[in-house]
Amino acid sequence: MNLRSFFLKANNAPEKSGMRFGRHIVCKGCGRQLSVARLRREYFVCPACGRYITVRARRRILLLTDRRSFVEHDRDLISRNILAFPHYDEKLETARANSRENEAVVCGTAAVDGHPVCIFAMDANFMMGSMGTVVGEKITRLFEYATERHLPVIGVTVSGGARMQEGMFSLLQMSKVSAAVKRHSDGGNLYIVLLTDPTTGGVDASFAMLGDITLAEPGARVGFAGPRVIEKSLNQALPKDFQRAEQVQRCGFIDAIVPRREQRECIAKLIGWHTE
Ligand SMILES: [Zn+2]
Repeated sequence: MNLRSFFLKANNAPEKSGMRFGRHIVCKGCGRQLSVARLRREYFVCPACGRYITVRARRRILLLTDRRSFVEHDRDLISRNILAFPHYDEKLETARANSRENEAVVCGTAAVDGHPVCIFAMDANFMMGSMGTVVGEKITRLFEYATERHLPVIGVTVSGGARMQEGMFSLLQMSKVSAAVKRHSDGGNLYIVLLTDPTTGGVDASFAMLGDITLAEPGARVGFAGPRVIEKSLNQALPKDFQRAEQVQRCGFIDAIVPRREQRECIAKLIGWHTE
């Protein structure tokens, strides 16, 4: 195959599944305009076509944890342009404005059905949830905090992969977080990961695949390289549902696909069984 095609930006990059206009969101599945209030009741799943609308990290945490139980950690850690990568500073500024977050992951402690947990949720609105130094550092610190206190960790992933603007420093985060997950696991602690659309690249190849229990949202794209790259290197057509959660589950990488409105109850049950 042509080596250049490895470096071409795929134009089938996953799009966000809902455009926000004031108090309304337009579903990209059916084009209907839905009020945020209605969607809140529906767990941000389109009641007309069933499409899963992308939700922000903070909303994820609200959907999964007990009311007002969340206490954030390391909110003030922000990325710097360590490699003087062209236009990275502007991109960070735009990402902060778009997501209203300082970085692509929100971490902290909370309770799920009364059980104390550590939780992190990635945010697709911040540079497609890409993993730079700060994302890796925040998640590592969370695991270390959880290991010391024997708390379970709940992780919600959504990411395009490692952050190219931070080069090798972003790739280093894969092993750094993985080592923290291992120490947490060696201490007999539970890690539940919830894969959401899309979980790809360096995140998929590290802490997204290291959970004791791996859950996923229906239809979520989960994989390392994009399907076009794989198709070209194998020189054969891929199945229609390639890298969708259902197909990945058939390959043995996912334990359960859980609809959004059942996720909180499912996680609470799993933690309950683990702490008995
Ligand atoms: Zn719809």
